[in-house]
Amino acid sequence: MTEQQLSVDLKELLALKEELSQKNSTIKDLENQLQESNLIFDTILDGSLAGYWDWHIQKDYEYMSPRFKQMFGYEDNELPNKPESWQKIIHPDDLESLYEVFDLHVKSKGKIPFNKEARYYHKDSSIVWVYCMGQVIEWDKNGEPVRAVGCHVDITALTGANELLEHRNTELEQFVYLASHDLQEPLRTVSSFASILARKYADNLDEKGLEYLDFIIDGSDRMTDLIRSLLDHSRTGKDAEISKVNMNNVLVTIQNDLNVLIREKKVTIQSAFLPIIDAYNVELKLLLQNLIKNAIKFQEKDVEPIININATLKETHWEFSVRDNGIGIPSDKLDDIFVIFRRLHSRSVYEGTGIGLAHCKKITELHKGNIWVESTLGAGSCFYFTIPL
Ligand code: ADP
Repeated sequence: MTEQQLSVDLKELLALKEELSQKNSTIKDLENQLQESNLIFDTILDGSLAGYWDWHIQKDYEYMSPRFKQMFGYEDNELPNKPESWQKIIHPDDLESLYEVFDLHVKSKGKIPFNKEARYYHKDSSIVWVYCMGQVIEWDKNGEPVRAVGCHVDITALTGANELLEHRNTELEQFVYLASHDLQEPLRTVSSFASILARKYADNLDEKGLEYLDFIIDGSDRMTDLIRSLLDHSRTGKDAEISKVNMNNVLVTIQNDLNVLIREKKVTIQSAFLPIIDAYNVELKLLLQNLIKNAIKFQEKDVEPIININATLKETHWEFSVRDNGIGIPSDKLDDIFVIFRRLHSRSVYEGTGIGLAHCKKITELHKGNIWVESTLGAGSCFYFTIPL
């Protein structure tokens, strides 16, 4: 080897060394950045009371962050990084339902989100409520899940507040129930004496007296209506049981019950073939009936109501719709109308108590569904409600 060749090789070697050291420092920089991001990530998760997990499904390995374990009173080394560790401390009922949601997530190829509330046992035996969210991030070529990641948020404090709120709500409902129940008795007295007065003493009253009597009878009739609706509203879901409900039969029963009104107003009801669903029978009939009655009521004079009833199967629920050709609803009132006693018209134009849609909302919530409306003023409205599968 000549001296010249040697010097060329040495130069190349030096250049290579320089390049290597530059790459090394880039790697060091990247590592530092990664460490910093991990630190930020951990700090944010710690601040938000969240722990995270990284589950290698086919290897029976699951990394659980120290915060995750701490949430249930364990040190990092006390819970091995295996799925078995959390499966042992989760409430058995919630283990089953968590797997059901995970299976749905897998079957839908990740389209249905994997999130669920669950109870865990703390090391001191108390219950810890967590909100678990996750997602499969890797699939094998057979479409089986390989890796899923997610986090757990401690919601025990929130759940406590919720329970308190539910308790207050129940108390309020009991109050409404008792108050309306007790109001029935004096109201019955007013109604029956007003009709006795009308029957036996009408001849003794002058025109003004008869007019006042009419007001009393009309007022007590309305109050009877209002109290009956309030009682129905506060009783919703009490003692009710889920059963198989054939929505076609429900619709036929409603049409029979409203037969007189339907004929008088020349109503056309068109309906698709409706499904059989798991639901609270009585409540669901009331819900559909309220929507149909409103579709008949909120019409311009002399317009013959046409009502379309439909059901569409979605991924997680049935979506029902009741469409009318009525007066429509202003776009800024589409949410308001579901609030109890909220009405858009005076009673002299359209009769009503303002309880119907609030009741519909309560019934859909009882089924863990939703209700909303789309509408065009002057052209008609379409009410939608969902019932989970
Ligand atoms: P009510 O029918 O006793 O007035 P609801 O709670 O059923 O009470 O309805 C609240 C309000 O929503 C009604 O007063 C009316 O203004 C509006 N609304 C409900 N259904 C319809 C409909 N199909 N078309 C137009 N407006 C409607």
